[in-house]
Amino acid sequence: MKPQTIVILGTGGTIAGRAARPSEALAYVAAQVGIDQLVADIPSITDNGPVETEQVSQIDSKDMGFAIWAELANRVNHHLARAEVQGIVITHGTDTLEETAYFVHAVCNPDKPVVLTCAMRPATALFPDGPQNVLDAVAVARHSGARGVVAVCAGVVHSALDVQKTHTYQLDAFSSGDAGPTAYVEAGSLRLLRNWPSAQEERAIAAMKTIAKLGAGPGWPRVEIVMSHAGASGALVDALLVQGGVQGLVVAATGNGTIHHALEAALLKARDAGVRVVRSTRCLQGRVLATPGDIFPDSGGLGPVKARVALMLSLMVL
Ligand code: ASP
Repeated sequence: MKPQTIVILGTGGTIAGRAARPSEALAYVAAQVGIDQLVADIPSITDNGPVETEQVSQIDSKDMGFAIWAELANRVNHHLARAEVQGIVITHGTDTLEETAYFVHAVCNPDKPVVLTCAMRPATALFPDGPQNVLDAVAVARHSGARGVVAVCAGVVHSALDVQKTHTYQLDAFSSGDAGPTAYVEAGSLRLLRNWPSAQEERAIAAMKTIAKLGAGPGWPRVEIVMSHAGASGALVDALLVQGGVQGLVVAATGNGTIHHALEAALLKARDAGVRVVRSTRCLQGRVLATPGDIFPDSGGLGPVKARVALMLSLMVL
């Protein structure tokens, strides 16, 4: 059988970063090297079949936003629909990779693999980690039976639902929490540990239609994240209500979704004013388990930043 194409979409990040000296691993500028160049620097990438590249954006992912998400979802869907494309790799900054992964998972619902990858060292480092991560991501995208949105970093494959950046500078910066990784990439082969992630098609189609209309423009539902903590107050929530325009609030609650009473009082006011409130947790592991008498719904296992994306999408397709 003719080997199929892997499309590599570049969005920026440290993987495309440049530093003044090869020894410099922290003081660098992200998003400098084009995806064509990054891929050209990995000759063995075409050993098992052709790859194509496309630059979707060139940003530090701390600045990720709706316009790029809309364009990225559009390009992912475009390439997924091509019969000769086996899978897609997205190079991305590590800072918001988990949010983009969840967004693409929710709105594209791929039955082919879409694999986000990244680097913790810039492309100019003495020993950059990006090239191996890209090779691993291509190996995942070429794996027969692979499907859904996953992220690959340091040889570990994480589901879009579970992946979370948990370290500020180590090369293995991501975790799937207590769900555990989906697979390991071992010398170019995959050791599968769990099922591939699957999405909800109807919601994806509805959300994508709205996103196509909204594009880069205003109109994406405004959802903010507030955190419950010792000494919390309702001041931020009150200020948001006074300012107006907020449609949803995600609470990064303590423990199993508990909220400081002062913040809870403000959230109840917000809910009475028509704002959707969802409880997630600050805890890195576990999920909020529902208990009788819960005042606000929980996030269904999503951490605060993904719960925010989910609430935005749900507000879009109401
Ligand atoms: N600030 C960078 C980014 O997210 C960090 C990285 O890629 O590691 O684009």
